[in-house]
Amino acid sequence: MKGTSPILTFMKAVLLTAVGKLEVKEIPTPTPGKDELVIKMLACGICGTDRHILKGEHPAKMPLVLGHEFGGEVTAIGEGVNFKVGDLVSVDPNIVCGTCDHCKAGRTAHCRNLEALGVTLNGGFAEYVLLPKTQAYLVPKNVNPLHLGLVEPLACCIRGMDLAEMKGGERVAVLGGGSMGMLVVQLAKLAGASEIVLITRQKARRDVAMLLGATSTIDPTTEDVTAILKDMDVSFEVAGVSETFHQACAITRSGGTVLVLGVAPNHEKVPFSVYDLVIRGLRIIGSYINPFTQARAAELIASGKLNLDPIISRTVSLEELPAVLAADPGQGDIKYIVTGD
Ligand code: NAP
Ligand code: ZN
Repeated sequence: MKGTSPILTFMKAVLLTAVGKLEVKEIPTPTPGKDELVIKMLACGICGTDRHILKGEHPAKMPLVLGHEFGGEVTAIGEGVNFKVGDLVSVDPNIVCGTCDHCKAGRTAHCRNLEALGVTLNGGFAEYVLLPKTQAYLVPKNVNPLHLGLVEPLACCIRGMDLAEMKGGERVAVLGGGSMGMLVVQLAKLAGASEIVLITRQKARRDVAMLLGATSTIDPTTEDVTAILKDMDVSFEVAGVSETFHQACAITRSGGTVLVLGVAPNHEKVPFSVYDLVIRGLRIIGSYINPFTQARAAELIASGKLNLDPIISRTVSLEELPAVLAADPGQGDIKYIVTGD
């Protein structure tokens, strides 16, 4: 019927159109249906996974708007949505079905029908993003909008902390000084660790870690990690390489915990000592994504208890993004946050 169709508006989005090809395009601004909302994207972190998807090393649908670490301001709501226009929200990109055997047993990270904004559905590298209401978490308006790009990685780290079951007073090692490592350092401090040793190769990152709560650092290129560290209570592997997995096992005391957050490439096989598992009783635990931790991550960021600005090395506009994603991160840089302009 004449006059009833909505006026189509367009927005800027960065689309993965083929492996290795990112294009800034004008695409229709989404409108929310029932139980959906649209946000103006204010911050979206660049993650190693985005680089892997671009290189064809991680599966993703195409064409697709990448970006899964984001949040923004609500601009439109569909029927059945309780958020208000103007609310600030962080987004949990992982959409679980809630009905498969894993979901019903609470193992939602292993949902058989898992979809993810920015991986299988359009995500955060755009001016506006459409999401189901289940994925949005209210954030107080006093939060620095750039910090919305860190809620999802923080939620993954909180999940790892939960599984590490720290009680306070532990000697902790963190292997890998990227943004995840920097968040784990701060979470370990909040959890009452007596010692936090950050192991990473770049000096600028070791300096940042000391600012954030590490009690000492090790340069693994010039120092022997396994000779210096012994009997750590908990070791967090957040580099995603086999060398750091080995080191984490070697430096952890019998009965201690090796918490693996880093994702080594699927084809990479690691020789592993059953002796460590059985005789030394190491608890070797992998932690995957953010089941049930997104709300706590948003709360923690809103509390102001984390020092996030030293982790954010630069902001990137949508126009700049294809070139930035195609290049390696700059030396010493930790996290890049894409803004919606
Ligand atoms: P990142 O920025 O790449 O940080 C990892 C850092 O580890 C590297 O930048 C590197 O820093 C350091 N590293 C590499 N080799 C090392 C070595 N031999 N010894 C010590 N440090 C070494 O990545 P991120 O965003 O922080 O993520 C960390 C890992 O967690 C990645 O594998 C990522 O895929 C994974 N991840 C897992 C989850 C989950 O739910 N499990 C969620 C998000 C990310 P230097 O150059 O300073 O050494
Ligand atoms: Zn499921």
